[in-house]
Amino acid sequence: MMSCHSVRPLLPARAEELTPLEARMRAEHVAACSRCAAEAAAYSRLGQALAVMAHLEAEPAGGTLERILVVIGRRRTRVTDPRVLAAAGSAGALVATVVVARVLRQRRHAQTAPTAAPWSRRLRLPGVPIPAAALARAK
Ligand SMILES: [Zn+2]
Repeated sequence: MMSCHSVRPLLPARAEELTPLEARMRAEHVAACSRCAAEAAAYSRLGQALAVMAHLEAEPAGGTLERILVVIGRRRTRVTDPRVLAAAGSAGALVATVVVARVLRQRRHAQTAPTAAPWSRRLRLPGVPIPAAALARAK
């Protein structure tokens, strides 16, 4: 049987990325080694999560960006000192609130007065805030 060290590079690979020999060696090792089995399962879940996210990117549902930003804001605060955690948490919530408010304002704006902002018509980037300096250069 292969050692954990030599099977480790095979763990993140999807089945179709391995040669039949590699796939068999990995399967045999994972069947006998709970540590590598857990690692392979984690990679598998990660791959599934990425596949779902790739789909989301292609077909963004309403509010997807806002939800992701809120989740990222919460995740980032988990590994830090409690004092930093409190500060980062409120900063993350503030950023998410600003982003949500901006998106809502743009949506409402787009519905009621689509011609009010000439640059948004020209650039066709309704979700991307354009800094004033960049606008000045673009003119
Ligand atoms: Zn192992």
